[in-house]
Amino acid sequence: MPTSREYTRLRSRMVDEQLVKRGINDRRVLDAMRKMPRHLFVAEEFKPYAYEDRPLPIGEGQTISQPYIVAFMSERLRLKSEHVVLEIGTGSGYQTAILCHLSKYVYSIERYGRLADQAGERIDQLGYNNIDIHIGDGSQGLPDQASFDRIIVTAAVPRLPKVLCTQLNTQEGRMILPIGDQDVQELKLVTRNGEKFSTRTLLRCRFVPLVGRYGFDDDIDEIEML
Ligand code: SAH
Repeated sequence: MPTSREYTRLRSRMVDEQLVKRGINDRRVLDAMRKMPRHLFVAEEFKPYAYEDRPLPIGEGQTISQPYIVAFMSERLRLKSEHVVLEIGTGSGYQTAILCHLSKYVYSIERYGRLADQAGERIDQLGYNNIDIHIGDGSQGLPDQASFDRIIVTAAVPRLPKVLCTQLNTQEGRMILPIGDQDVQELKLVTRNGEKFSTRTLLRCRFVPLVGRYGFDDDIDEIEML
């Protein structure tokens, strides 16, 4: 098992080679990625691979996103320290912790109670208290807490959920989410000004499906097991 010093070195190399070389240049995002101990968000057996250029399993058939994708989405969200953010798909809590570092307050929703609890503990241990994790179907957002300056969806949706658009701040609200089928998607950026929405495609990507009312059907897990 690498020592804590080795992890710091591996993380710094990850930032230089996987992020800076591929064009991530937002200083706050790079600082957050340089600080955040990604190895604490995966199980013992995956810790040695925590700073490699790939997603890793986190249980329940889910994955922690590739570092580049986390940095890319965080950069494109243009997060400011006064922003209130909604994240859908807490998973390991790694992206959540990056959001906590870069914004004022984060609401995050996770479908699996076990993942939500684990993520909450890790984020707590890292000393962030600007976080509220909900267990449930995030595809419907959090109408009671809306509006949000930023919304990030870290699981694939078949189409743009209108219900999330309505929860975006009317003043330069930004949402980033992968839209497509279960195998491949396009990462889209939605911006809102008043009642005017515009959408841009950023890159092709592959996320696990969002399962819920405005996501994919609930029986998807069983279908995959056949
Ligand atoms: N950003 C996370 C990615 C986790 S994968 C990380 O880096 O660890 C996507 C997560 O979305 C999974 O944990 C999955 O359980 C969750 N998810 C799927 N459908 C959901 C839904 N309807 N509501 C909330 N979470 C959902």
